[in-house]
Amino acid sequence: MKSRPKLLWLQGVTCNGNTHSFLNYPHLSYILETFEFLYHPILPATYTLEKIASCTQSCDILIFEGAYDPRMMRAGSRMETLVQHYGSTANTIIAVGSCASFGGMFKQSDPEYITGVGFDREIAKGPFAKSNKLINLSGCPIHPEWLGYTLRMIADNKVILIDEMHRPKELYAYLAHHGCTRNEYFEWKVDAEHFGTKEGCLFYKQGCRGPMTHASCNKILWNDVSSKTRIGSPCFGCTEPDFPRTNMFETKTNMSIPQDVPLGISKRSYLTLTGIAKSFRIPRLEKRLIDDNT
Ligand code: SF4
Repeated sequence: MKSRPKLLWLQGVTCNGNTHSFLNYPHLSYILETFEFLYHPILPATYTLEKIASCTQSCDILIFEGAYDPRMMRAGSRMETLVQHYGSTANTIIAVGSCASFGGMFKQSDPEYITGVGFDREIAKGPFAKSNKLINLSGCPIHPEWLGYTLRMIADNKVILIDEMHRPKELYAYLAHHGCTRNEYFEWKVDAEHFGTKEGCLFYKQGCRGPMTHASCNKILWNDVSSKTRIGSPCFGCTEPDFPRTNMFETKTNMSIPQDVPLGISKRSYLTLTGIAKSFRIPRLEKRLIDDNT
């Protein structure tokens, strides 16, 4: 039998969210058949963590989940040692989740030491800073298909094009705004007044970051059916290096003007466009889409 690429899944400071998300991947059996898992915290694997921590093995793909803290201990070994050893043997290093990519949530607990494996927020830093082996799959958590896509591309020996933050372009060239069912409300500046409603855009009052967040959440739907904005919750920009921010469910404004405008548009142009769009009144967009009383 042909030997399978060896995959090692290591965890830093993590809530296990990406592991749990990946357990929902519909094609998990294909991944388990295609790759040999040397170690994974939950899935069946060849070795124990103790064996991996002895640094006597080598891997082809290193998947790192959680924020990186070089001082952290795993089965008696320093994280710095483990990452250096397995990172040097791997052909590809995949940071899964925003903590592994940029520091994420857990960076808040010790900003001086905790980073992603290749970036500290948007600055290249960490054990794999500027490494051409590094692929970042940011998200809190990632969609399981994002990792499935990346592993399938590796299995098929295909080139994965990445952006300046080392994220696959196929997954992150889009904005979360692309494919959102509320686009028409965004165009005509019709606000959603509350969370959970079907009508209105969440940009103006509820803090939606869809127009400035690189993610395919409205292209590759969650559980194949939905996304945050589709159920009436704003995108809070979890795939970007500045995540998490404060007051994520409110639109920050200066004199009633949104502090951040859609990516690539000047504030002046955006305000001109907004003024024109708001001068129209479109009764259809002010109605309930589905009237519960009929
Ligand atoms: S809810 Fe967010 S993603 Fe959807 S149209 Fe409005 S700004 Fe864009």
